[in-house]
Amino acid sequence: MAKVTFREERCKGCGLCEIACPKKIVVIAKDRINQKGYHPAIITDQDACIGCAFCATSCPDLVITVEK
Ligand code: SF4
Ligand code: SF4
Repeated sequence: MAKVTFREERCKGCGLCEIACPKKIVVIAKDRINQKGYHPAIITDQDACIGCAFCATSCPDLVITVEK
């Protein structure tokens, strides 16, 4: 099973990863704010992840790591 991790403090909440995820399990956490003042991206259902890494490759700030 793939494991997705976020360097949350680097995230600027742009939402590109949310658009890229075919499983729609990456979302912007509207109820959280990181140290930069942005709503960070999170994964809602780790078990549903297929490990495609589209989220990681879509992120311009290298926030996301996908381990298989
Ligand atoms: S690896 Fe693929 S399925 Fe998993 S969270 Fe990223 S984009 Fe979604
Ligand atoms: S693409 Fe990167 S910077 Fe943009 S919301 Fe996703 S994790 Fe954050």
